[in-house]
Amino acid sequence: TLSDRLSGVFEKLRGRGALTEKDVSEALREVRVALLEADVALPVARDFVGKVKERAIGQEVLRSVTPGQQVVKIVHDVLVDTLGGGDNAHELDLTKAPPSAILMVGLQGSGKTTTSAKLAKRLKEKDRKRVLMASLDTRRPAAMEQLKVLGEQADVPTLPIVPGQSAVQIAGRAMEAARLGGHDIVILDTAGRLSIDEELMAEVKQIHTKTSPVETLLVLDSLTGQDAVQTAERFKARVPVSGVVLTRLDGDGRGGAALSMRSVTGAPIKFAGVGEKLDALDVFDPERMAGRILGMGDIVSLVEKASQDFDEAKAKQTAQKLAKGEFDLDDLREQLAQMRKMGGMGTILGLMPGMGKIKDAESAAGGFDDGEIKRQEAIISSMTKKERRKPDLMNASRKRRVAKGAGVQVQDVNKLLKAHRGMADMMKKMGKGGKRGMAGQMAK
Ligand code: GDP
Ligand code: MG
Repeated sequence: TLSDRLSGVFEKLRGRGALTEKDVSEALREVRVALLEADVALPVARDFVGKVKERAIGQEVLRSVTPGQQVVKIVHDVLVDTLGGGDNAHELDLTKAPPSAILMVGLQGSGKTTTSAKLAKRLKEKDRKRVLMASLDTRRPAAMEQLKVLGEQADVPTLPIVPGQSAVQIAGRAMEAARLGGHDIVILDTAGRLSIDEELMAEVKQIHTKTSPVETLLVLDSLTGQDAVQTAERFKARVPVSGVVLTRLDGDGRGGAALSMRSVTGAPIKFAGVGEKLDALDVFDPERMAGRILGMGDIVSLVEKASQDFDEAKAKQTAQKLAKGEFDLDDLREQLAQMRKMGGMGTILGLMPGMGKIKDAESAAGGFDDGEIKRQEAIISSMTKKERRKPDLMNASRKRRVAKGAGVQVQDVNKLLKAHRGMADMMKKMGKGGKRGMAGQMAK
């Protein structure tokens, strides 16, 4: 695995003062080989290694981690970036006026029909959307029946089957039915193709023109590795793909193909299929995928250890700022991230003896759960650098913008700002206590 390959190389890096070009190059040769073995396309692997090198060389070695751990951490971070970490592109664009079409495309057997039903269920249950599904697979009558059965399981209606219509006609009929029926979203499940054939491609294009979908999701089987990358390339050349769904990530494929997808399609990976059941669909998580590509196991714990150590250094920085009476929203975000890494307050409380009941009370109140922490992080992330430094800048229109960006209500933004103000005031008071204050103690 990648981790085996790297540990030897990293052993050599132990005890150095700063990462030299030679250290890094040696380690990265191994990274490149391992990436290729994990099904990452050559140009992507090359580009990837270049980015790691750029970040790593000359970086000061932190006292608390070995250079090897530090390189692993950088590899991990670049992996997450390459997979689309840090942007909010993983969710669907549901802002357009209804009915909106979501077009599912891909090779036969990639999981289009299953994913259509999973997505319909999710949109219905999580987003409270009124969804209609339609099968445009005129080549295999069984395919239409399959979607209907899955629709019944998901409790989502499917367009009644009318024999003899073309795919484009059915698409038109589906949009019309949605308009009349007051549906928000129409999921269009297209015909499977065994390979890219021109006739079916032309058909997909026609359907696209006819329905102007808000999302065109390319469904790819992650187990097919480099083939999936080629498929993505071919589809991309013919239809404007807005997002990728990688299926069968519950299998033991290494998922290296995921790393290529973004650069090949220019579109983010939006969802991951993780099983045959209808709730086995996750919003794509770059962090988790990065762990998987790195080979899980000890390397991930190494990375975790490394980032923990980084966090300690950061915590010290924060404490020093606190001592000076400074505590901006960037600091708050740092604190939230730490809380989330520790598994949220709920987990921490749950670990303490006798605290189980309180934990339940907490989560019942929705107080410190993971979702809430993530929501608060999202709000801060939707602010500009300037706003994070000077929360006083947040006027009504800025609040509206941030709320929209984070997908929350303005009152949530207000709540966060108020909580921050309270904390900052408290910190200031502690800071004024000088060296004897708590913050002063923490900074030592
Ligand atoms: P289509 O031809 O693209 O419509 O593919 P289907 O949706 O019919 O899926 C083909 C097979 O793959 C079915 O047996 C599905 O149950 C299975 N499948 C789809 N997605 C996943 C997934 O994420 N994990 C697993 N294990 N199986 C999946
Ligand atoms: Mg199908």
